[in-house]
Amino acid sequence: MKNRTRPLVEDVPSPVTDTAAVQAWSIICEKIANLMPTQAFQTWFQPLKPLSFENETLIIEVPSRFYYEWIEGHYATQMDLALDETLGKDGKLIYAIAPPSDNGNQFPSAKPVTLQPIISSQHQIMLTKTYSLNPRYTFENFIEGPGNSFARAASLAVGTSPGTTAYNPLLLYGGVGLGKTHLLQAIGNECLKGNPDLVVTFLSSERFTQDFVEAIRENRALEFSARCRAIDVLLLDDVQFLIDRERTQMEFFHTFNTLHQNGKQIVLTSDKPPRELGGLDERLVSRFGWGLVCDIGPPDYDTRLAIIQKFAQEECTELDFNVIDFLAQNITKNIRELQGALIRIFAQANLTGADINLDLARKALKDLCDQQDNPISIDLIQRQIADYYHIPLDLLISKTRTQPVARIRMIAMGLASHLTNLSLKQIGRHFGNRDHTTVMYARDSVLQWMKEDTKFNSEMDNLIGRIKAASV
Ligand code: ADP
Ligand code: MG
Repeated sequence: MKNRTRPLVEDVPSPVTDTAAVQAWSIICEKIANLMPTQAFQTWFQPLKPLSFENETLIIEVPSRFYYEWIEGHYATQMDLALDETLGKDGKLIYAIAPPSDNGNQFPSAKPVTLQPIISSQHQIMLTKTYSLNPRYTFENFIEGPGNSFARAASLAVGTSPGTTAYNPLLLYGGVGLGKTHLLQAIGNECLKGNPDLVVTFLSSERFTQDFVEAIRENRALEFSARCRAIDVLLLDDVQFLIDRERTQMEFFHTFNTLHQNGKQIVLTSDKPPRELGGLDERLVSRFGWGLVCDIGPPDYDTRLAIIQKFAQEECTELDFNVIDFLAQNITKNIRELQGALIRIFAQANLTGADINLDLARKALKDLCDQQDNPISIDLIQRQIADYYHIPLDLLISKTRTQPVARIRMIAMGLASHLTNLSLKQIGRHFGNRDHTTVMYARDSVLQWMKEDTKFNSEMDNLIGRIKAASV
């Protein structure tokens, strides 16, 4: 056991417990209990007894020096958080070892001693500012239309005054590619514009789950909890990903409660309205309704025109109106697809050196829509991809996460979603029973890579060409 030097005090408080101490300690305990597994709390904290609370100093009795060292060695961060919240920055906590019991065989120390006080203002916790926000996602470049104006207004209000509006939590829901993530990140960027010191954390629910699972595996679950609870603005994307993940939901539930109680802002997105989030803890779903729930609908024709023009501007390209109109007429339900179509058009024009005109747009769009004419089986896609990348077919479908197999699998899932009419869930089943959100993630990543990397984009064109050729 580590040997620390600690001051001895003679004027030990009377063993009669005072009510102020009991009250303060019970609040602290409640907070600490939220930060650790029940078993740990019962073992280490329930045996402690509050003795006195005077001059912002709380004295608690520990059964032995071992308790003190264990608590300080393992739960200092949680204590720090709970004390700071309850006693304020100047509050102190002092431990006193319990006197020997009457039967005389309990603890070796003849006299109670105070141990090194914890001064709560000395935070040991590292508040990592997980910005990970994309500066491109702002309110300025979010085009408003009838389908999103309500969600946009609520988001702007939250971004301007996080934690102080009635919109807490704010839940944005809507179909894929309609701007949920864009708005969520715009809130984060706006919050930081107002106050760069805020701890703004943007996380996909998948990332939240991964981090949590990893923290458990590495015995860092408590640190994970403490970190989550130090956030000022939590932006959690795609909560539907938490469906059927009970432990992660539980962790999120506690995080939610702590943040909400402390007036911190929570914003969530989901691809479904709360009532359709079966598989999510009902207590969580009901909490989503405490603030404001907004849906984002598909863009109308005018909004689509404005969005296409904006995208073209960002690429420094001017488009003929008939090209813009053609796209706006044909891609109606998903802004990401609209973006994808434009990127394809730009890429084709770039690669072939051709001008962007209606013909080229038609050709690019025909590729996108071809799936309706020629049904392509997922089996064919998998075989073609395995063949193209020279990996065995069963490895493609296996659970292995090693690279490059995992990336090739993402490409296969992405293309399966692009080239077939199968639902994400059905595609997931064909890839070793993977979750539909994994497929969604793969699909979005592939689109993103295509957007960012022209080489990858032409590789995909090549692959799609092969798959289509093989399907006739
Ligand atoms: P979701 O999260 O709903 O699936 P995203 O927020 O990822 O959708 O949006 C897909 C793409 O479309 C992003 O690049 C986003 O910037 C863009 N986008 C969506 N809605 C708008 C809008 N109203 N104005 C401008 N761009 C938009
Ligand atoms: Mg999204």
